[in-house]
Amino acid sequence: MTQNLSNLKPPFRTFTLRTTVRRGNIHVKQCIYCGSTANLTNEHTIPFSLWGQWVIRNGSCKQCAEITSRIELSVCRGTLDNFRQAVGAPSRRVRKKNRWNGSVQLSNDSGEVINAPIQNTFRFGLFPQFTYLPRGIFNDVKSAEHDALAASVVSISNTQHPSLSGYWSKPTKINSDAWSRLMAKIAYGEYIRVIDKNFRCEKLARYILYGEGDQSYFVGGKQDRSKIDHLNDVDFCTIWENGRCPILAYVRLFSFLRSPSYMIYLGDLNGLENIPDTLCKRNLARSNIWPKFSNPQSPS
Ligand SMILES: [Zn+2]
Repeated sequence: MTQNLSNLKPPFRTFTLRTTVRRGNIHVKQCIYCGSTANLTNEHTIPFSLWGQWVIRNGSCKQCAEITSRIELSVCRGTLDNFRQAVGAPSRRVRKKNRWNGSVQLSNDSGEVINAPIQNTFRFGLFPQFTYLPRGIFNDVKSAEHDALAASVVSISNTQHPSLSGYWSKPTKINSDAWSRLMAKIAYGEYIRVIDKNFRCEKLARYILYGEGDQSYFVGGKQDRSKIDHLNDVDFCTIWENGRCPILAYVRLFSFLRSPSYMIYLGDLNGLENIPDTLCKRNLARSNIWPKFSNPQSPS
């Protein structure tokens, strides 16, 4: 458990609760996005191509699964393509069609192109960074900050800086829309799998499927890079705030690489009594209560 929420904008009126419960597969028999009970398929919460191992059995209808697969493909073969190859991520494409031969195409300023084995190439990944909290938590007004997107370079080895080699790999495309919808999908699916199999949020589902609404309403960032002992991390907390109980997920992929984490606003619980036991409800009055934030810093 990470206890540093210093990037959050105070004031939190009371407390946050957090969990790191891990569970196995669950069975819901209903599409978690549209509610359909026909043509159901298993829903990987974290994509298989990002080492996801858990599924919601019969948790997604064929139509919705097609849409979420397109979002996954856009991220995994776009922004994360080189990176996934470098870290040897599982891929149905490679296994079935054998299209990737273990090398990466590099070019230099003279236009010379070489195929270098992945282990001889520089290993850097680019991740989109969102430097604000999801606006849905506090119903913040949209600002210029929400339109700005930062990219973060994550190194996966101690090899020299790419510019020193004279060769460059093809540029990485950053699709922040697909990225934030995929992070939202992971958070939503994991919350249902781990915390509350009956939880549904139509607004978030429509954002994941159709990109409806503004990404800054649902997805933000938090630059906590202290956790380095997991492959992928998804944690949850709820914040008790003036009668509202917003639920937040923290999603971090490749966390052993000090990659950025993403915060996703999942929706509100209807008051304290509805906090699921798996979010440490029983310990509300005791040690799991986080300290109050006393550092007033008005939201921009
Ligand atoms: Zn559906």
